[in-house]
Amino acid sequence: MGFFDLFNSTPAKSSTKCECDVCSKEINLEDGYLLTTKDIITKRAYWEYAFTHQWDYVHNLYGSTSDDSVKKLFLVNLIIDRANQETPWALCESCSNLFAFDKKTAKRYAQKNICPLNTGHADFEGARLATVALMDAWEKIYHEKLPDLTREIRV
Ligand SMILES: [Zn+2]
Repeated sequence: MGFFDLFNSTPAKSSTKCECDVCSKEINLEDGYLLTTKDIITKRAYWEYAFTHQWDYVHNLYGSTSDDSVKKLFLVNLIIDRANQETPWALCESCSNLFAFDKKTAKRYAQKNICPLNTGHADFEGARLATVALMDAWEKIYHEKLPDLTREIRV
């Protein structure tokens, strides 16, 4: 075998009709983009969107306990759950405007339904950057600073 091994032909999505992994809208994959877990979760805008949409209950839940370790664990679990996503993320056109990425490449992956390079769960750096992104989003939306959660992320 040379440097490049046999092509792994597992498609990125099992159907080219799929949901946008940010807003859940149904899309044709070729009209969207394919990105990796790390690409998405390290962006502040991803967490801003989540906290103002599907996870808008999180802030109240966070505030409903005075136990700091429970609070931390709750948010860290959210991050870890996202960071552990193994499959590529599809993005609709509208969500693609939430943050900057290489649209041309991500579009090619979507049109061919193949996994982007480095598909899989986020690495340690990705999980830490996601934590920083979540903390920034939280402060921006709720005008309240979170305790430093980066120390809670371990390999
Ligand atoms: Zn979307």
